[in-house]
Amino acid sequence: MTGRVLEFLGETKLELGGATTQTGPWRVGRDDDNVLWLALDLPDSSANTISEAVLRTLDEQIELAEQDLPKAVVIRSAKLTGFAAGADIGSFDAMSDSGATDLLKQGHNVLDRLEKLNCPTICVVHGAALGAGFELALACDYRIAVNGASFAFPEVQLGLHPGLGGTFRLPALIDPTDAMTMMLTGKTAHTDRAKSQGIVDAVVEERHVAMAVEAAAQGKIDKHDQGLKSRALKFDQARSLVAKQMRRSTEKKAPREHYPAPHALIDLWEEYADDPDAMQREEIESFARLLKTETSQNLRRVFFLRQRLKDASRGTDDISHVHVIGAGAMGVEIATVAAIKGKTVTLGDVENAPLGNAVKQAAAICRDKHLDRMETRDALDRLMPDPHGYGIAQADLIIEAAPEKMELKEKIYADLAARMKTGAILASNTSSLSVDKLSEHVAAKDKFAGLHFFNPVSKIDLVEVIDADGTSENTLNRLNAFCGMIGKLPVKVNDYPGFIVNRALTPYMMEAMVLMDEGVSKEVIDTAVVRFGMPMGPVTLADQVGLDIGLHVAESLHRNLDRPIADISETLRSKVEKGDLGKKTGRGFYDWSDGTPHPDADMQNAPKDLTDRLILPMVNACVEVLRSNTAQGADDVDAAMIFATGWAPFRGGPMHYASARGQEEVVARLKELADAHGPRFAPDEGWQNLD
Ligand code: NAD
Repeated sequence: MTGRVLEFLGETKLELGGATTQTGPWRVGRDDDNVLWLALDLPDSSANTISEAVLRTLDEQIELAEQDLPKAVVIRSAKLTGFAAGADIGSFDAMSDSGATDLLKQGHNVLDRLEKLNCPTICVVHGAALGAGFELALACDYRIAVNGASFAFPEVQLGLHPGLGGTFRLPALIDPTDAMTMMLTGKTAHTDRAKSQGIVDAVVEERHVAMAVEAAAQGKIDKHDQGLKSRALKFDQARSLVAKQMRRSTEKKAPREHYPAPHALIDLWEEYADDPDAMQREEIESFARLLKTETSQNLRRVFFLRQRLKDASRGTDDISHVHVIGAGAMGVEIATVAAIKGKTVTLGDVENAPLGNAVKQAAAICRDKHLDRMETRDALDRLMPDPHGYGIAQADLIIEAAPEKMELKEKIYADLAARMKTGAILASNTSSLSVDKLSEHVAAKDKFAGLHFFNPVSKIDLVEVIDADGTSENTLNRLNAFCGMIGKLPVKVNDYPGFIVNRALTPYMMEAMVLMDEGVSKEVIDTAVVRFGMPMGPVTLADQVGLDIGLHVAESLHRNLDRPIADISETLRSKVEKGDLGKKTGRGFYDWSDGTPHPDADMQNAPKDLTDRLILPMVNACVEVLRSNTAQGADDVDAAMIFATGWAPFRGGPMHYASARGQEEVVARLKELADAHGPRFAPDEGWQNLD
């Protein structure tokens, strides 16, 4: 192979064959062996997406190839970031309005044409091939993975299933049940798994791509055998049986009523998997139908809410050393997450025991996050227990995660004043104290803010960044960028009792306790809310958070809010006094000795207003949060509730839910509930000023 053009991009060389001429979003060229190289390279973008223009230009290139057949066609990406991040989700709304079916058919025609091309077609994948990117790869004869490549169909997370041939090409390539699992769960197949499943035919290092392409072009790479199961599943009865099992397990995680996409996919597969043409036709119809569902529209909204928060965290991160004060439940998690993401972390405490346990807990978090041995070792090397607080003088950011007591935090801040380096930020993880009041005890007020992480920090993406009295814009920007670098989603909040998330959650959890005191079982309460679409009910959540913590936050809101909330339940107080604190002590409202409870109660005798009694006070509190200028807008409130609590994502967030249900109707319902159960339900005055 002479005359091949190697592209040098930074340190990494990408083998691009002769693909040198930019033609629309593709770089195109034939090498000396008459292999046609098509390298996807979207202009002005760091990553590739599969747009209409990408497919149109590809179609033109295939047409040229049909007229002057090359020895082989190679399709790959010229971006170091990876192969392709799927379809352009931003175009889905327009696509749904303008007749998705026609557009999808055009896309299918291009991939069909590629599939039928009368020479070997070879897809080389480095990085991620997602959604439509993966579908493009599937239309080729061979897939060569560069080490580190991964494949996934994340469409279910957008309320969709694959729409560009994935539903029939993947089950035709690998074990159909594995294919269905990938499409139903959105789970990623990393390189090794992709090879063992038969998604890829070869795995090579980048420097061996040219050789692998040559081998594939000469038919010297063995194709994977799909196995016996695929033959058995060509029979309707066998498929129906498997489809039934799939439906049952999917229903548990994603009920059809709320998440129609995975069920539509199972229906398709059961009905048409033995007839690829019918499957193709029905995939297109089904995808176009799903695009219009409220679930998909709302899940796409959630995608963009996440994107918005990510965008806010894109600034320059100048924090390299973090010192965390307090090695308790929160401190260890914060320290570990920061260390995993490459920060040097020192962790201080007044007691030795928590510091002794910290490294063990950090190792467990690394395990939970599936880090390999090297990554774990590196993270643990960066995390240093620091009983004497030597890190304070070096740190660019100090995160205080000491117990929730004003006087204690005051003392800590007084001690820090002389020890912190110039320019360093001090941030408090307080969940219920006023950051404005805390700020009074800080020397450099412009470099002080709240940084409210949620428990467990390693699993919950949201962080409330609280603008205290005197916090500078620069400090907020630096904290946002820090959050982004450690994989968190920062949302800007002003000081207010409970900020956004705890303010909204407290009346909901308190109402659950009032209901229990009225004799409604915890299982019935939790079932109602899970059926509404929350990941867990309020009683399970209270146990999970810790009843002591919940009580503390509720007491603080009682003291500091100027509107009525439910009285604190005596049962809650007595459980806390007895030390039954929930999951962490093995017993709270539930017995946790057998793991997380998953109540599924008979709802026949449940109070008719049960769900509204729980959900609407939360929505009402969100309106209060907006009215009090605590949050910057309804999108931030929705994002905060979804990314901190898992608030029914297919409903698009509490504020979106209120709009979809009708604000007037929600207000009227709150008034009815106030008449029936008391003034804690009275609609907030902020409803009048909503858009
Ligand atoms: P914790 O009681 O588990 O841990 C606090 C740690 O701080 C203990 O190890 C204690 O020994 C140590 N400590 C006490 N005085 C200290 C001092 N002067 N200097 C250094 N360390 C000291 O508490 P936690 O649950 O991790 O909470 C810490 C902070 O995070 C609180 O402000 C709390 O409101 C907030 N928070 C907690 C949660 C939660 O769910 N636990 C969630 C969000 C925010």
